[in-house]
Amino acid sequence: MNRTLQQVLVNLSHGWSIFVWGFALLCVIAGIFTQRYLNRSRDSGDVVKLRRAKTAYVLTASCFVVSIVALGLSILHVGCSYTTQDEQKCRSNLKQLALAIHLYAQDYDERMPPAKRWAELIAPKYVSADSHKCPSATTPFSFGMNAAVAGASWSELANEDYTKIPVLFEADAPVLSFSGGMKDVAKFRHTGRSNITFMDGHDKIYPYTLLDTLSWKPKIESPEQKSKP
Ligand SMILES: [Zn+2]
Repeated sequence: MNRTLQQVLVNLSHGWSIFVWGFALLCVIAGIFTQRYLNRSRDSGDVVKLRRAKTAYVLTASCFVVSIVALGLSILHVGCSYTTQDEQKCRSNLKQLALAIHLYAQDYDERMPPAKRWAELIAPKYVSADSHKCPSATTPFSFGMNAAVAGASWSELANEDYTKIPVLFEADAPVLSFSGGMKDVAKFRHTGRSNITFMDGHDKIYPYTLLDTLSWKPKIESPEQKSKP
């Protein structure tokens, strides 16, 4: 399916968009009834009744227009400030965790922590334990480590583009040291987007439709392999 269409569908199926869909549907039903009421009022010739029917019709039509505008905004990805604050807090926490992984690696021969214990090994020595939470998450823990690079060193990935290799990502994590890959990214937490940190240290919020453009499984080579012609 076309990426843009996928993104639009995700936006329209998320949280408050569903509420707006329901409101728009109610407006259409109310519009049908008020239209009939308006027709009957015209036929009756009662001026007061006709005025009431017109007012009801205009109100219903206005609500419908407002809900269509709201749906349009959701397609264009305009979130409310509440969501933005959550995203910022989440991103800040994920940055702290990414920094902790770099600090850990400095102490352990430039090697990242292993997949099964990554979170336990970086907290509380390198980061506070409460950084493991995204405000929008409903699961006990909020982040996961890319299992394909956990335990690897930067030198083993020297032939790869660090800016494309995810290290930490948002996940519906049942355990603190959760690890996985692209299929485990929490897709609906921030309106179809997810905070991700990369091996070069930068971080970005990614739409899930673009996740497959990243290097989730880079080729890990030992220094001996690299020295071969
Ligand atoms: Zn988050």
